[in-house]
Amino acid sequence: MEKFEKRIWLSSPTMHGDELKYMTEAFETNWMSTVGANINEVEKAVCEKLGCKNAVALSSGTAALHLAVKLAGVRPGDAVFCTDMTFAATVNPVLYEKATPVFIDTEYDTWNMDPEALEEAFERYPDTKLVVVANLYGTPAKLDEICCVAKKHGATVIEDAAESLGASYRGRQTGTFGTYNVISFNGNKIITGSTGGMLLTDDGEAADRARKWSTQSRENAPWYQHKEVGYNYRMSNVVAGVVRGQWPYLDEHIAQKKAIYERYKNGFCDLPVTMNPYQVDVMEPNFWLSCMLIDRDAMCEQHRSDGKAWYVSEHGKTCPTEILEALAGCNAEGRPIWKPMHMQPIFKGFPFVTGPQGNGVDVGADIFERGLCLPSDNKMLPSEQDGIIEIVRRCFD
Ligand SMILES: *Cc1c(COP(=O)(O)O)cnc(C)c1O
Repeated sequence: MEKFEKRIWLSSPTMHGDELKYMTEAFETNWMSTVGANINEVEKAVCEKLGCKNAVALSSGTAALHLAVKLAGVRPGDAVFCTDMTFAATVNPVLYEKATPVFIDTEYDTWNMDPEALEEAFERYPDTKLVVVANLYGTPAKLDEICCVAKKHGATVIEDAAESLGASYRGRQTGTFGTYNVISFNGNKIITGSTGGMLLTDDGEAADRARKWSTQSRENAPWYQHKEVGYNYRMSNVVAGVVRGQWPYLDEHIAQKKAIYERYKNGFCDLPVTMNPYQVDVMEPNFWLSCMLIDRDAMCEQHRSDGKAWYVSEHGKTCPTEILEALAGCNAEGRPIWKPMHMQPIFKGFPFVTGPQGNGVDVGADIFERGLCLPSDNKMLPSEQDGIIEIVRRCFD
């Protein structure tokens, strides 16, 4: 296979032109700080599309998660049930507040938090009052089941919808299932502000508190008066201009990502692999990243230490390391599956709860071992994707 002349990215920003118009508007009216029309407009647009009452525009999804964890009233030492196979940003805010993450294993149906493992965790840690659930790669978790288990045990839910903006579950948009919810406009998400994120909640008082915390917790007084710790977390009106310009293209990006997913699915239909799965009748993902999982008996020997990966090449078999190296060699960007949190050095020593589904197998570790993220850039041409499919197919020779 020849090299792609132009690099094929995993997922890169796709600009449309109006971003510049709204940024210029901010510049020309001198609303260059954390107040302005772009912020107001994107907060309104998100509330309308997702069907939530309040949106607080912040500097990142991580900042939004931090404020969500604070709003949930977590105290040092409290246990918090967290999605295990996710980006570390889902969990880091739990550490900021000195709480104890308890990692809940993954299920095979959606690659998200296993509701049965969550139930098991409540049996082991019955006093837990918070669940942080993420929607991996744009596929909703089994949100009804998760919320039902949480409710039964009197726990609050934070939904990390950073990767799933525009996805829906039983007709309802993700980012609305928790008491507090988070979306992200990070550079490689489905739409971007170059950076940025939002906290979403139907609780108006909570939204007001988050707004206040995000702007250094100023009290209502003639001088800078403070009763609470504050943060510099508010979104810039310039960043909001980028989001505002991107916003009308969300559905277009989702359609492009879905086409990419379907093309991979067809291209691999006779290989011993499956795509990242979802429940067809229940959920509509945003297809942010297309991923594949290699059947167990088509896996060659693969080893991963904390910093290195290697494999033993074998006829008719392959592994994520071989495929990722083949892609990189052709100037295309793939990525391993998020390495589960319970396998991360920083989180060693925190509890990990598996469900009955894995039958004693650690599901997250299994998907990490056999899965990978494929180039999913929505500017990738069908002819280029055919090239990617060919590279992957050859790894099975
Ligand atoms: C990107 C991401 C975040 C963090 O969003 P930022 O805006 O980059 O801070 C949180 N959780 C998940 C699952 C993400 O993928």
